Amino acid sequence: MDTALANPPHSTDGGVKVFRGKEELRSALSEARRAGPRIGLVPTMGYLHEGHLSLLRAARAECDVVVMSLFVNPSQFGPGEDLDRYPRDEERDLRLAGEAGVDFVYAPTVEEVYPEGFSTHVEVDGALTEVLDGDPARRGPGHFRGVATVVAKLFNVVQPDVAYFGQKDAQQVAVIRRMARDLDFPVRIEALPTVREADGLALSSRNAYLDPRSRERATAISRALRVAEAATRAGSLGAGIDAARAELSAAGIEPEYLEARDAENLSPAAELNGRPVLIAVAARVGSARLIDNVLIEPRT
Ligand code: AMP
Repeated sequence: MDTALANPPHSTDGGVKVFRGKEELRSALSEARRAGPRIGLVPTMGYLHEGHLSLLRAARAECDVVVMSLFVNPSQFGPGEDLDRYPRDEERDLRLAGEAGVDFVYAPTVEEVYPEGFSTHVEVDGALTEVLDGDPARRGPGHFRGVATVVAKLFNVVQPDVAYFGQKDAQQVAVIRRMARDLDFPVRIEALPTVREADGLALSSRNAYLDPRSRERATAISRALRVAEAATRAGSLGAGIDAARAELSAAGIEPEYLEARDAENLSPAAELNGRPVLIAVAARVGSARLIDNVLIEPRT
């Protein structure tokens, strides 16, 4: 069957063009590329919120053509994780993408991304992928193997000049930056600040899992990171971690991890040493597993 006919791109009311097939997207992009424009890519798993929209707006402001991918990537979910219940609302996502000025949405099927017999993966070294979320006792390194593989595939299909990611997923940013550098992808990786609710909670599609009581308790995570930063600047990283632990504990939250690490190579950080340091936390609150972090830049 001719896939060009099987998967014709269609336009939504917002003017965004939706592609299910990589070949159709590729040919639309090669057409657009003739004028020599700058292409921006925003990878997402959908269920868009203001965090995603901040990336789309940045891409819109800086690029001539904005591509958003919309794909809940099964290979980055472990067994027993929330793949089946991950929130989805494609219609709303397409409307919001159109309003944010996205030109093309790539919303492939699982079979389009992982055809029968798929057997090639991208693996970034364990120093970046077996710590924090990648620790085998947590999500495990398979999570980042899934992320790196799907992002490499998106880079190959879209060939963006700039790709936009959220600092909310700081480890993901470190992994993608390393992959792009090591595999010579000619793309600039932009990491944008975490967008938060008024009470500090980092926006996440998984916040949809929070019942009202858990939603309230979850505010302790961003509070803990704020006190950690203040106590670190006033004293030491150790004091910062202790202060954060106390804040979480007061809300009855036992973190999966709460660690200070070099923001680039993710090696453990004992003290501020002139390099950006990440204090990262993961915790289960109610039925949601939430992550958040604060980036402590050296004072100039
Ligand atoms: P996701 O759909 O959760 O895979 O996220 C898609 C992109 O949006 C990733 O680069 C995330 O880091 C980014 N993102 C998610 N939440 C936020 C947030 N609260 N602020 C900024 N970026 C975010």
